[in-house]
Amino acid sequence: MAEVLPLQNDDQQAKQAPAETSATSSQPTAAATTKKSLPKGIVLGPDGKPCRSCNSFRDFFSATSGGAAPPTAPTEAASNCPPDVEQLGRAGWTLLHTIAASYPSEANPAQQEDMKNFMSIFARIYPCWSCAEDFRTWMSKPENDVRNVVQGRKTFGKWLCDAHNDVNVKLGKKPFDCFKWEERWRTGGKGC
Ligand SMILES: Cc1cc2nc3c(=O)[nH]c(=O)nc-3n(C[C@H](O)[C@H](O)[C@H](O)COP(=O)(O)OP(=O)(O)OC[C@H]3O[C@@H](n4cnc5c(N)ncnc54)[C@H](O)[C@@H]3O)c2cc1C
Repeated sequence: MAEVLPLQNDDQQAKQAPAETSATSSQPTAAATTKKSLPKGIVLGPDGKPCRSCNSFRDFFSATSGGAAPPTAPTEAASNCPPDVEQLGRAGWTLLHTIAASYPSEANPAQQEDMKNFMSIFARIYPCWSCAEDFRTWMSKPENDVRNVVQGRKTFGKWLCDAHNDVNVKLGKKPFDCFKWEERWRTGGKGC
């Protein structure tokens, strides 16, 4: 499993993307030269530079500005910047769960095929490469095989909830109650 480690963890080196991991880049790595000058724990991209979508805004800023603190509160400062790992993640999960919410209760063979392909492509091109790597590892386990859940909304939605919980737990967050998945993403609770 790929680990995205906080910068303050002094025991960890910067994490380098494998050269061929990113589907969007064929640049050779420059890790050997860049790694030494970077804070430990930062996730690097395939070009050997800090990966913006793999790190928090604060970590990315501090890694690319010689250790200076972000000028304002990270969320404020980042609102007009390319997304960091958290913004991208919230948007990514919103898209995935909302796709699940609009998936038919009984999908036909063509819809099932589309969903299998979509998830497999998503897991390859998700811009946080270290997140994508872990997601592919999770998907490759026999019990998480997406082919077994695309028959309809309930099974697919639950599968996504489990996938999201795997990341929640990895990041030290509380798992979400998957019985509430549909209320959160499809029907809406009181006040929605
Ligand atoms: C495929 C993928 C892999 C990721 N991997 C990593 C990683 O390896 N490292 C990393 O730092 N970040 C990763 N992220 C981002 C991370 O999961 C969060 O999105 C980010 O940390 C922001 O978290 P958040 O607490 O704001 O809420 P999020 O986790 O983004 O959740 C958004 C909302 O979804 C709801 N929710 C929470 N859990 C579930 C669930 N299980 N099922 C349904 N709804 C739920 C809640 O209402 C929550 O407010 C990944 C994102 C994606 C899409």
